[in-house]
Amino acid sequence: MIMNLPVEFITRTKPLLGEEWDLFVEALNVDAPTSIRCSKYKSSIEKESSFVLWSSRGYYLNQRPSFTFDPLFHAGCYYVQEASSMFIEQVVRQYINDDIKILDLCAAPGGKSTLLADAMTEGSLLVSNEVIRSRANILSENITKWGNPNVIVTNNDPAQVGKLNGFFDFILVDAPCSGEGMFRKDEGAMYEWSVDNVKLCKERQQRILADIWPSLKSGGLLLYSTCTYNLEENEENVQWIKDELGAETLPVEVKDKWNITPSFVEGVSAYRFFPHKTKGEGFFCALLRKSEASDSVQRRKNEKERKTKLDLPLEYKNYINQKEKFIFYSKNDKWYAFPSGLSSDLMVLNSQLNTISEGIVLGEFKGKDFIPSHSLALSNYLNIDAFPTNEVDWKTAIAYLRKEALILDNQPKGYILLTYRDKPLGFVKNIGNRANNLYPQEWRIRSTNIPTEEVAVI
Ligand code: SAM
Repeated sequence: MIMNLPVEFITRTKPLLGEEWDLFVEALNVDAPTSIRCSKYKSSIEKESSFVLWSSRGYYLNQRPSFTFDPLFHAGCYYVQEASSMFIEQVVRQYINDDIKILDLCAAPGGKSTLLADAMTEGSLLVSNEVIRSRANILSENITKWGNPNVIVTNNDPAQVGKLNGFFDFILVDAPCSGEGMFRKDEGAMYEWSVDNVKLCKERQQRILADIWPSLKSGGLLLYSTCTYNLEENEENVQWIKDELGAETLPVEVKDKWNITPSFVEGVSAYRFFPHKTKGEGFFCALLRKSEASDSVQRRKNEKERKTKLDLPLEYKNYINQKEKFIFYSKNDKWYAFPSGLSSDLMVLNSQLNTISEGIVLGEFKGKDFIPSHSLALSNYLNIDAFPTNEVDWKTAIAYLRKEALILDNQPKGYILLTYRDKPLGFVKNIGNRANNLYPQEWRIRSTNIPTEEVAVI
């Protein structure tokens, strides 16, 4: 594909790249590589593949398969993520060793949140927020599939989240931007591009940053990222954070062979990814530490303990491993498990933000029945021994994901966990002559173009 780059984009970007410009344009005319990141808790790649150099679980694929028809994709075994953005793992590795509270402010569809969930320590909390409701639902779906119980998905604008004074130790602002780095992957980004839009994006990014800043504790870290190249939305905004909000940039160690481009502005540490130098799309990030002087930590504590009158019978608590590490409570008729060490934070967040999902949804009572939820099936803490399991082949797995009724041979009546290549896929209720499909209706595969051959990505 030959790209017709906007003239003004050329005028503005060519001087930044100098003699590398032709190589850059050449790279834009090559197909974008496809990459995935495997889940720390659920999978590793079995096929021969090449690694994303700056990631511990990222791989390039030789072609782009139909992920929709790989059951392991729906089981949360891997996430399809553009390779450059996997670099944020390096920041976490180099700067985060303790249990902390993390906010991913602009999180949908969830690529960086799922990465953070794997990279953070087991006692850390991740608040994964998205301002647009429909996108928050997709985010929640992806987080549920990923299976980490220490995550809360919220749907708030940055100003509302910003009211949590000094609450977070680490904030990722993966800002909505003019998307210059996505031109070859998404041609639409190129047609929407204009100088005016760059200016609007810059102003919006500053508003978002100013709104969220109070919720970062003094001395806390903010990772700012975009998928665009221009100086205004990148180094200039980082300089603006330093000057107007009070912060310093911090270095991230990189290896020469990664071919990452340093900042274009002296005094601002930042990391740039260009497709002619690194195998991935355009990406920018800078790590900042909030100045100590502007300390205003006032962690809001909610004195009220969560009062659940009913307790969940032990047999259902046993649905998860290490149950002693969790609190169990009911909310809107559903039973939840949430890491007990983070329960007071959960209360604060629930009282101030619009929570879409949290922890593990264990299930709900219908009459005498306790219906296990899909969130439980995909949780990293699922106690697989608590249920009869039925390993299914690819065709049956796809039928399940299409929410068709199944017929299972030689299985007891009741709730049965289906597995595919030994990974939990979801529950059915076997009633004898057929099994009712408990896969979430809104997540089902709608496409009828089912491949004739099995799709197996990892
Ligand atoms: N971090 C995501 C990931 O890795 O999958 C991608 C985030 S995308 C670059 C930016 C997100 O910001 C979008 O989901 C968009 O809906 C959201 N957004 C748009 N306007 C916003 C605003 N005014 N404040 C906060 N977020 C906004």
